Amino acid sequence: MLFDDITDLKRAEGALILAKEAAEEAARAKSDFLANISHEIRTPLNGIIGMVGLLSDTGLDAEQREYARIVRLSGEALLSLINEILEFSKIEARKMDLEILNFNIHSTIEEAKDLLASAASEKGLILSSCMDPDVPHSLSGDQGKLRQILVNLLSNAVKFTSEGKIVIRVSLEHQDACSEQADRNGGKVILRFSVSDTGIGIPQDRLHILFSPFSQVDSSTTRKFGGTGLGLAISKQLAILMGGRMGVESIEGLGSTFWFTARFVEETEKPYGENSQKENCGNDNDLGRIARILVAEDNPVNQMVAQAMINKLGYQADIVANGQETINALRMIPYDLVLMDCRMPEMDGFEATRLIRKEESKVLDPNIPIIAMTASAMSGDREMCLRAGMNDFISKPVRKQTLGQVIATWLKNREEEDEEDPGSKIESKSRLSGCHQQQHEHQ
Ligand code: ADP
Repeated sequence: MLFDDITDLKRAEGALILAKEAAEEAARAKSDFLANISHEIRTPLNGIIGMVGLLSDTGLDAEQREYARIVRLSGEALLSLINEILEFSKIEARKMDLEILNFNIHSTIEEAKDLLASAASEKGLILSSCMDPDVPHSLSGDQGKLRQILVNLLSNAVKFTSEGKIVIRVSLEHQDACSEQADRNGGKVILRFSVSDTGIGIPQDRLHILFSPFSQVDSSTTRKFGGTGLGLAISKQLAILMGGRMGVESIEGLGSTFWFTARFVEETEKPYGENSQKENCGNDNDLGRIARILVAEDNPVNQMVAQAMINKLGYQADIVANGQETINALRMIPYDLVLMDCRMPEMDGFEATRLIRKEESKVLDPNIPIIAMTASAMSGDREMCLRAGMNDFISKPVRKQTLGQVIATWLKNREEEDEEDPGSKIESKSRLSGCHQQQHEHQ
């Protein structure tokens, strides 16, 4: 008989499993820490950005307006820094999912261009795009992440170019052979996007570091142009997540071309976004009597911000500070909509929503639209809100325009439901709506 002593092997195996579990635990702790810290920073930031926005609408003189503008810009810069750090850590912790929806590639390129159009024209730069004729227009894929990469590359191009032009090109890199067949619906394609500029360019020996986090061409970049050095690292990871790659070609003094590829599925149907994008913008005059909105929010500054924004949007607002107070108010007053903070003392927004949806809560309308208003930004939060029974989700800092759009959408849905069937209210439409930070539900 032959015996092999495998004690050492087993011991090493056990140690490896323990090490793996410890590493996973550390990664979880890090991402929980980041979620918490981001919540803690976003909450006061919501107060700063919201209040300064309201302040700017009052009768300020030119000097005061300028100070208010700088406070807002600084707040927004801090917010984008927090978002980038959070986003990078989500990618690192592999907590980033693709949000697949049907979209039109042409509109996506135009939207990205629109976002940078005024910054480019302020610098006298020409911003143009061209798309090869064989690029399919109707696609399904993560439009949000595609737009994010394009906007990031375009803002860099604008930032690092003082004269000349910026061109976006889209071409077909690969098409699955089967999708050439008669029924082309469902074929996979890889598209190649590039953003070329006539800017400062990048020295050859610095090209390879640019996609690493926190790296810039040299230390003077931050002083001269600002930025964190995270944008390209995030963009590259997003391209990889979409089944693609990213790279750069550049000649110092002449300009740069950043390119990336991404996978999509070719669709023949009319893209969902084409019809839905223009719906429900702003306050709707058809809403009749003035809608009454209940705001559940425990932070006093954010209570003031929410109340002032809602009043400016033309609605009536009442404030409560926790979940139990929300339920008490909904038992007595026929509100039209609830804006619900998720984290509140005594009873949080999730528990309150779950209770409101039950008949035994004795609220006047268990199907009232509930919109989460939260400072959390980790993936999974939206799902938690929807699972608890909320209808939609907006993240803080809340912008008046976004708030107006979401409120108008849900008030309109409710009106339509009431007209169709006065008893049913909005049950069937709830949870099917997308979220206003991440656009649409997974499909
Ligand atoms: P940020 O722009 O916030 O610093 P990025 O990761 O987007 O971070 O870019 C990293 C660095 O790459 C920039 O700081 C800059 O040095 C260089 N860079 C990026 N895009 C360009 C460009 N179009 N032209 C010249 N340099 C660029």
